[in-house]
Amino acid sequence: MQKRLTVEEYIKGILLQDRIILSRAITLIESQLANDRKLAEKVLEGVLPNTGNAIRIGITGVPGVGKSTFIESFGKFITSQNKKIAVLAIDPTSQRTKGSIMGDKTRMEELAHDSKAYIRPSPSGNTLGGVANKTRETMLLCEAAGFEIIIVETVGVGQSETVVKGMVDFFLLLMLSGAGDELQGIKRGIMEMADAVAITKADGDNNQKANNARMEYVHALHLYPPTQNNWYPPVLTCSALEKTGLSEIWHVIMNFSIQMQENGYWKKNRQEQNLAWMYDYIRHFLESQFFEDQHVKDNIKLIERNILNEQMLPIKGAMALLEKHIQKNVSSSID
Ligand code: GDP
Repeated sequence: MQKRLTVEEYIKGILLQDRIILSRAITLIESQLANDRKLAEKVLEGVLPNTGNAIRIGITGVPGVGKSTFIESFGKFITSQNKKIAVLAIDPTSQRTKGSIMGDKTRMEELAHDSKAYIRPSPSGNTLGGVANKTRETMLLCEAAGFEIIIVETVGVGQSETVVKGMVDFFLLLMLSGAGDELQGIKRGIMEMADAVAITKADGDNNQKANNARMEYVHALHLYPPTQNNWYPPVLTCSALEKTGLSEIWHVIMNFSIQMQENGYWKKNRQEQNLAWMYDYIRHFLESQFFEDQHVKDNIKLIERNILNEQMLPIKGAMALLEKHIQKNVSSSID
């Protein structure tokens, strides 16, 4: 058994950039045990003054677009600039064994062995909100441990892009050049969230197609109203295999960071994100408290059946569970 570390030992180890202690602190954050949670909160509080200095980059794209290959090449490019990079992930499918990003150790093997890089797979969890909270906290620990660039990767499914957008400074959408139907496959909302679009696999026979796709996206993005930060999302092409287009993407991110820090958007965005995080925590706390309540657990199946049999109105079912839950909490707080 590993010796339990004190809060001070965790904080000191993280600030000294000790990877083993960083990993153990992240495990603490991911733990479901109440005591671990309490310890994790104290550690987070302790490192808080040393957080916030990284550039936080979100990366999304459909499975197969080349995310892991891109992050590996881009990550190597960043470490070659003498910068430390942490790669995190939000994968709502990670509780299943298959299809999970970051699941197998063979991904990003080269980057994983780079002393300036740290890769952490997606936490698992029952809700996307729960997974996101853990990744956000992990991001703060990585910042305190001296990582200057944080990449948060997500699969292009469900709501995970919105969640990642809500925790990063810059959001990069990776796209495939396809069989002429480029614009149909994209959810419009995701295009609107992107601070840049990169067409992947722009190499060999695919080069021309990638350039054509680039032009189509440039036109498509022109149709959107300008964003509140006065930024016009550029469309680029890249090849993770041939390692082309990577420095261009890096420059876009640098320019974005300079412009947004100058016009105040960077700070404003982070302030708004912090507020949204607080509300997220509240929602998540209330929800998990409710569903972990023994009374709720004991009765929810019966109420579900009653609703399915049309013997009970949904609102009645909800109120019956909520009332019991609230009564129990009120009486236990009086005790
Ligand atoms: P992910 O599912 O988005 O993480 O995609 P992967 O990184 O696993 O890549 C999917 C497939 O595309 C793999 O077979 C890669 O070898 C291939 N691929 C990724 N990047 C490139 C690239 O830049 N050029 C070419 N030609 N193939 C690539």
